[in-house]
Amino acid sequence: MSGPGQGTFLGMPSFPRNAEKALADSQLRFNLRKATHTIRARRGAVVSELPDWHELREAGRAIKDDVLRNLDRYLVQAEEAVVEAGGHVHWASDSAEADRIVTGLIKATGETRVMKVKSMVTQEIDLNEALEREGITGYETDLAELIVQLGDDWPSHILVPAIHRNRSEIREIFLAHMGEWGRPAPEGLGDEPGTLADAARLHLRERFLSTKVGVSGANFLIAETGTLVVLESEGNGRMCLTLPQTLISVVGIEKVLPTWRDLEVFLQLLPRSSTGERMNPYTSMWTGAAEGQEFHLVLLDNGRTDVLADEIGRQALRCIRCSACLNVCPVYERVGGHAYGSVYPGPIGAILTPQLRGMTSELDASLPYASSLCGACYDVCPVAIDIPEVLVHLRARAPHAPAERAGLAAAGWVLDEPVRLRSAQRLVTRLRGLVPKTHLPGPGAAWTATRDVPPVPRESFRDWWRRTQEEDR
Ligand code: SF4
Repeated sequence: MSGPGQGTFLGMPSFPRNAEKALADSQLRFNLRKATHTIRARRGAVVSELPDWHELREAGRAIKDDVLRNLDRYLVQAEEAVVEAGGHVHWASDSAEADRIVTGLIKATGETRVMKVKSMVTQEIDLNEALEREGITGYETDLAELIVQLGDDWPSHILVPAIHRNRSEIREIFLAHMGEWGRPAPEGLGDEPGTLADAARLHLRERFLSTKVGVSGANFLIAETGTLVVLESEGNGRMCLTLPQTLISVVGIEKVLPTWRDLEVFLQLLPRSSTGERMNPYTSMWTGAAEGQEFHLVLLDNGRTDVLADEIGRQALRCIRCSACLNVCPVYERVGGHAYGSVYPGPIGAILTPQLRGMTSELDASLPYASSLCGACYDVCPVAIDIPEVLVHLRARAPHAPAERAGLAAAGWVLDEPVRLRSAQRLVTRLRGLVPKTHLPGPGAAWTATRDVPPVPRESFRDWWRRTQEEDR
């Protein structure tokens, strides 16, 4: 029953080709513009209320940097605390291992249905697909994830996975597909937000009360006590975390925070940056196993330690998935999330995905170029990730970078000596009739695919200066 929303994005064409397709969809652009501008304005208002926002942001950056420097120590501390509180801890080096652990744990319960809290990391490891292969159905319970799952679709935003859908499209999806997954949508369903939310609530409640295994991610893992923290807005997370007899949480190793005091900083940074709220509607915290519940924590690497080894790229691991960078990105606003071909879209996706997956596919190698480098993402990032810096750094690692580097080295050699520059200018001026006016051939073709070749002047500025000065004398 899983759709592309739960499938892999690998094998997609490069970002420019995906973007071209998305740009042709005017409804998509309208939906995206409306949604991103609304969230952006809300964030701006609540952030400007805090006179110490800059200090908070610096504190968030410093805490995360400390975590990354001492990750080994904090993870072992967290593991010991979780085990002491009655939980079980599993370590997964990659997505295949994490999928194997989670499916094994579910099969051990004898259940074939699980309910899920919205979690980027379980999408990163394609958990729903892995479950389906073992005859287990994963039911999404976050409203936007439910829309994506029912619509056999892909998420397109970190916070609002169905941001590309409008109300009438959601109504159609509910009417057509809710019945395939459980309680059908009421007949005569309208497209008012309240009516749609009611339909989802009735559909999900049945699921909450009949499913015995829950799967979640976590926003934070506090090392000193082993406490996991999930922030969400709908209450579905609270149901998924408390009702099941078995709870399995899959958490990226970078989610650890040293102490409860550190959490205070992030409980201010995250809601304001993501939903534009002063505090989060539902903040659930749990330590180890609750009475009558079995708890498993799966700590996932999946490329993160490789990212950690890169001095510039590692700052991407500070990300708290607030999505503020998506909402201000002029590229994301026009093409939406699907073009990035990853569960992590937008500016953070453009730096995180190529580092986690490598840059061997056409799509992943194109992602560091999915940006105008305007810097708006850096300005809003609550943990001060310098996304433009990482983008430029990754561009130098792209497979076609050697050709680009050779071209820049040649240009540097010419520009380094006035004599060489003069000779090159005269040569190009003499050959100007042969220079194409619009598209360059060969390696320059990609560069001129979206811009004209600048016209070559009849004479260089230096030659013009010399000539006119002599004429004046
Ligand atoms: S990179 Fe920064 S702004 Fe973007 S999602 Fe991560 S924390 Fe938020």
